[in-house]
Amino acid sequence: MLKKIHLLCALVLLLPALALAQFKKPVDVIPTDAGDVSITFLGHASLMLEWNGKVIHVDPWSTQADYASLPKADLVLVTHEHRDHLDTAAIEAIRKDGTVLCASLKASAPLSGARVLKNGEGGDFLGIRVNAVPAYNRVHMRSGSEPYHPRGVGNGYVLHFGSTRIYIAGDTEDIPEMAGIVGVDVAFLPVNMPYTMSIDMLVQAAGLLQPKVMYPYHTGDTNMDTVQARLAGLPGVETRIRPMK
Ligand code: ZN
Ligand code: ZN
Repeated sequence: MLKKIHLLCALVLLLPALALAQFKKPVDVIPTDAGDVSITFLGHASLMLEWNGKVIHVDPWSTQADYASLPKADLVLVTHEHRDHLDTAAIEAIRKDGTVLCASLKASAPLSGARVLKNGEGGDFLGIRVNAVPAYNRVHMRSGSEPYHPRGVGNGYVLHFGSTRIYIAGDTEDIPEMAGIVGVDVAFLPVNMPYTMSIDMLVQAAGLLQPKVMYPYHTGDTNMDTVQARLAGLPGVETRIRPMK
């Protein structure tokens, strides 16, 4: 009995620590001329950005965080319809009155009131310019000739905070359109085979985009030491590794 009580006490003591662990996700602050943007690295492709009191969730996925305990969203961006990017339970947990939902056409289907953004479209939300850009596979195919991410279906997003541009690429390879995404300060680029980029493609993409800061994300089982080593030689690009498996 005593043992059981001890176990119970230990659990009671442990629970707040577990709840706290939820918030111990890494955070980086990006200074901009319109105020700091703090980025919480929730995991995989899930990010939370906070700027001037506004909360932006990108591709919220319940496996990466307890969304019920995270700040509610002013803006949610969904890149595409795959389950690691479109999770209606996570979105419901962070949605409040007035939350703006932006999604690709296919991802918008189960989301009531979502604003559809196709490649090339954009809008101003909460004082943030958001541009939807292409995200697709040109090489990696599911079977036969069907890409994991067909061209024109999913989005990447470029967010403008004042003159600072943060590009969240979504599930894509090093596509030629990246050369036209200019002035990127911070880039999130996916690297996991076979769904998105190989390390070679990531190096190519970073070369096309020339971001000041590059975060590999959606990393799966990719060897991040190799990523770091391969990108070390790219002049002007600071690669920052965060836990985004
Ligand atoms: Zn995908
Ligand atoms: Zn994915």
